[in-house]
Amino acid sequence: MAYSYKAPVSQSLFDRASVVTPGGVNSPVRAFRAVGGTPRFMVSGTGPYLTDADGREYVDLVCSWGPMILGHSHPEVIAAVQEAVSRGTSFGTPGEGEVALAEEIVARIEPVEQVRLVSSGTEATMSAIRLARGFTGRAKVVKFAGCYHGHVDALLAAAGSGVATFGLPDTPGVTGATAGDTVVLPYNDLDAVRAAFAAHPGEIACVITEASPGNMGVVPPADGFNAGLKELCAADGALYISDEVMTGFRTSKAGWYGVDGVRPDLMTFGKVMGGGFPAAAFGGRGDVMAHLAPAGPVYQAGTLSGNPVATAAGLAQLRLLDDAAYAKIDAVSAELRSLVGDALSKEGVAHTVSAASNMFSVFFTDQPVRDYEDAKKQDVFRFTAFFHSMLEQGVYLPPSAFESWFVSTAHDERAIERIAAALPAAARAASEATA
Ligand code: PLP
Repeated sequence: MAYSYKAPVSQSLFDRASVVTPGGVNSPVRAFRAVGGTPRFMVSGTGPYLTDADGREYVDLVCSWGPMILGHSHPEVIAAVQEAVSRGTSFGTPGEGEVALAEEIVARIEPVEQVRLVSSGTEATMSAIRLARGFTGRAKVVKFAGCYHGHVDALLAAAGSGVATFGLPDTPGVTGATAGDTVVLPYNDLDAVRAAFAAHPGEIACVITEASPGNMGVVPPADGFNAGLKELCAADGALYISDEVMTGFRTSKAGWYGVDGVRPDLMTFGKVMGGGFPAAAFGGRGDVMAHLAPAGPVYQAGTLSGNPVATAAGLAQLRLLDDAAYAKIDAVSAELRSLVGDALSKEGVAHTVSAASNMFSVFFTDQPVRDYEDAKKQDVFRFTAFFHSMLEQGVYLPPSAFESWFVSTAHDERAIERIAAALPAAARAASEATA
C-alpha cells in the first residue's frame, strides 16, 4: 500500500530508534508492523489531541491504550504531579499517597478488601497468580485464548494484544515447564471450563480472565459467562481472578465489576489508576491478600511500588472520575460507534461494531464474534486501509485490528466532527481494499 504522507521526522526518529532498540520500539504494537508505514513519534498531547514530531495533530482514539481517560495534560492531574514532584520523586518508604490511592480503590470496588500497588499490569497479574498458587497450594492456571494479561511467562500462551497482532502462537523463551501448567480454553465457552475442572480436579489454582476482553478487539462476555466461571471456581476451591487492567475505572466507576456485579476473589488493575504513570495493583479477598509478604509467606515486592508521583497522578485522575465523567465517556463512545457503523454501512463494508460499556472496536466481518477464532476471521486488510485513511486525515486509531478503541471526557464536539469528517473516505478505502 502506498502512503501519500511520509512523516519525515518520525521516520528519521524511527531509523535512529531501530539502531539502538529492537524493532525501534519499547512495546511491539507501536511499531505499526500490523498496518505498515511509519509509526508516529508523538511529542505532546492536549485534551483529545496528539501532536507528532512532524507537527501534525491527530484526534487520539488510543488514549495511551486506556490510561488517558480525561484526555491528555488534564490541568488537575498535571498540577497534582507537579506538586508531588516538587517534594521528591521516590523515597523507598511508605507514603501517604499510596494509602490514599489504596483507600480510593477499596472504596470504589466492593470485592477489594485489600490491595497491593505495583508498577505495571504485567506485575499485577503475575503477582495475583503467584498469590493464587500460594494460597491454594495448586499449580494450574486456566486462561482464555485471545485474553492478554501482560507478558507474564505463564500467561503468554494464545494471548491477545501484540501476540494477536503478530499472530504468534506462543513466544520463544517461555519454557515448556512454565507453560505446562497453563490450560488455554476458548473464550465464552463454559463447557470447556467444566471439562477442564473435570480433567484436573483439585489441581487448578485459578481461572484468570479479562473482565470483558479488549485485547482480541472488544469481545464482551456472554450473559452468565463470568458468573459461571465464579461458580465453577468456587465449587472446586480455585480462585476466580478478574483482570481489570483495561476495564478497571473505565467501563464504570467500579470497572466491569460495576457492570456485571460478579464478585471475583482477586482483581488486577492498571492503566486508568496511574493517570499516565506506571501504577497498577492487585487486590481482593482479605483472607487471600493476607498470604502476601510481609503479612504472609507469598513474596512480592517493588522498588518503585506506590511511587509518590504515580500515586498522585492516579489519585487526582480517579477523584475526577465521577458519574458525570462516565456519562460523558459513554455518550462519546455511543456517538462514535454509530458514526463509524453508518459510514461503513454506507459503503457496503461488512462489519460489526462491538462494544463493552464505552470500550469498542470494529470487526471487519458481519459474523458474530464470540471468541478469538471468530475475531481472526475478519478482513484485516480492510482495517489496514481504514486505519491509514484515518491516520492521513488526522485520526489516530490503534494500529491493529485486534485492539480496543478508547475515548475520554476530553473528546468534545470539535474532535467528534473531525472524526466524522474523516470517516467517509476511510470507509471507502476499506470497501476498495483487496487482500
Ligand atoms: N491485562 C490486561 C487486560 C491488559 O490489557 C494489559 C495491557 O494492555 C495488561 C494486563 C498488562 O499491563 P501492562 O502493559 O501495564 O504490563
